[in-house]
Amino acid sequence: MTAIYDVIIVGGRPAGAALAARLGAGGLSVLVVDKARFPSSPEVPSCPVLYAGTMALLDEIGFTEDLYAHAVTRVRAGVIMVEPYFHTRMVVPEFFGRDYVCGFERASFDAALWAHLARFPGVTRRAGFRVDSVLRDDAGRVTGITGAEEGMPPESLRARLCVVGADGRHSLVARKVEARVIEDCADRTSTCHFAEWEGLAPCPVDPEPIVQIVTRCRGASVLFFPSANGRVHVATHVRSDRADTGGDPQRYYRRRLDDFAAVRQRLVGARQVGELLGVKKIANRYREAGGPGWLLVGDAVHHKDPVDGQGVYDALIEGKRLAELLLAAHHGALTWDALVPAYARAIEEATGGMFRATMQRLARELYQEPPVPVIRTMMRWLLQDPAYHHQFFAFLSRAIPPENWLRPSLVLGAAARGLLRDIAAPFTRR
Ligand SMILES: Cc1cc2nc3c(=O)[nH]c(=O)nc-3n(C[C@H](O)[C@H](O)[C@H](O)COP(=O)(O)OP(=O)(O)OC[C@H]3O[C@@H](n4cnc5c(N)ncnc54)[C@H](O)[C@@H]3O)c2cc1C
Repeated sequence: MTAIYDVIIVGGRPAGAALAARLGAGGLSVLVVDKARFPSSPEVPSCPVLYAGTMALLDEIGFTEDLYAHAVTRVRAGVIMVEPYFHTRMVVPEFFGRDYVCGFERASFDAALWAHLARFPGVTRRAGFRVDSVLRDDAGRVTGITGAEEGMPPESLRARLCVVGADGRHSLVARKVEARVIEDCADRTSTCHFAEWEGLAPCPVDPEPIVQIVTRCRGASVLFFPSANGRVHVATHVRSDRADTGGDPQRYYRRRLDDFAAVRQRLVGARQVGELLGVKKIANRYREAGGPGWLLVGDAVHHKDPVDGQGVYDALIEGKRLAELLLAAHHGALTWDALVPAYARAIEEATGGMFRATMQRLARELYQEPPVPVIRTMMRWLLQDPAYHHQFFAFLSRAIPPENWLRPSLVLGAAARGLLRDIAAPFTRR
């Protein structure tokens, strides 16, 4: 007899696993399938950092830090270097009870999250199960999935409530249900290349594990993110119209790294130990959130440039909102026709402000080229301002609404404080 689940989730990384955990805790029977086996890196490579707000959402599903401590490095400061003009060191303030961010290694982290699902009796996991289509009833409503484990006969699996696509940017579920793209910011995109390295020289500004950004404000930057076990992800973030690899990504990557003195300095004697990964023209878009019998969550419904490191938070917060609505529907408090628009509104409320803020940051930091006098004054005053540091981390940690995080009053105050620092400098230097 074919088992029927309340909900079938396709994809078992942050979005799918977090949703499964919440639905399982709420008493639903959930099947979560993933074509990958764990540990493995996600299909769309990612070199991530987790902020306090993201970790707080993981706490809510019982995925506490001790369960993924082996996959992360705690980072208590960040350094921004604007070559050759100035640098600034930013201490991570405390939000949600954490005064650090975590650089993490996705394969081990995702495997621990997948393993965590075993704690929820209502959740059935099937790794190595590739979904190839969705099932529909006579009215066209999605009622299940078809797929198979490698080397095994095809299977049809049914869901009472719905099928959820948590299957990432290139979502198969989205394609099968013909989910429309409803917003697409394609005019400004970035291209990222990155690899793990070992044996890096410490940053001269701070020898502890730090996030470091090196830029010249000319359409390209290099970022260092501690991973796990002393390794560091070194990433290039370049506006896409200047990211021609000429068919040789490794050479392109090395050329981009060598372009910055501060990067060359850290890489002396270091070894690239991981495969070079690249994501070209990273899309910034929203898809339709749901339809008859189907819903999308995480990157499947919404994804954007990684400059702000918010993808996992967005996947988790969408999963939280969706779980609340599905549990209400399961208990008869919400009809399906009301659930889909309510979920679309919840996605906009939870992620829309950040999406627009990230688009503005992408335009400002990768596509605008401020004149040198502006870099040496206004920009330096802002980036070296302690109030700006606090606000920046509050924004990334989702401790404040992302709309207008960079208020004019903050910019003017930072400029005034910076100017005063410059005037006082000759008298305070020893
Ligand atoms: C370069 C880069 C850097 C990034 N840096 C950060 C960062 O610093 N911080 C951050 O928070 N986010 C970052 N992100 C974003 C983050 O990686 C994603 O937002 C996050 O992984 C989304 O999680 P997800 O569960 O929605 O999808 P995914 O992690 O993509 O998981 C989707 C899963 O679905 C499975 N699947 C797909 N198709 C099928 C199928 N047909 N059948 C069965 N299973 C299927 C896949 O195997 C996969 O396991 C970055 C992204 C990129 C591209």
